[in-house]
Amino acid sequence: MICAFDECGKQFDPHRHNQKYCCSECCKGATNKRTKEKYLETKMRLQGVSRKCGSKTCDTILSRYTDSKICNRCLAEEDSKERERLRRMFGAI
Ligand SMILES: [Zn+2]
Ligand SMILES: [Zn+2]
Repeated sequence: MICAFDECGKQFDPHRHNQKYCCSECCKGATNKRTKEKYLETKMRLQGVSRKCGSKTCDTILSRYTDSKICNRCLAEEDSKERERLRRMFGAI
């Protein structure tokens, strides 16, 4: 039987009928790898649904929990631009 840990792949004689790995190190290694893969998969999935800031010059990743199309920094920038525009329109207050 061949060790189920793909990084090992050693031939071994199983002592137990449900033995999948040649040694406990391989068992641990395979479990760790699975955990890591699962973690990466979750991370990729979360990144997949993340959105970038709507501003052309900014590529901040928006939080999944943000409803706005642009990031907080751009939002503040836009806000001050708007204020500046109003100030010019109505004169200094
Ligand atoms: Zn092994
Ligand atoms: Zn931004």
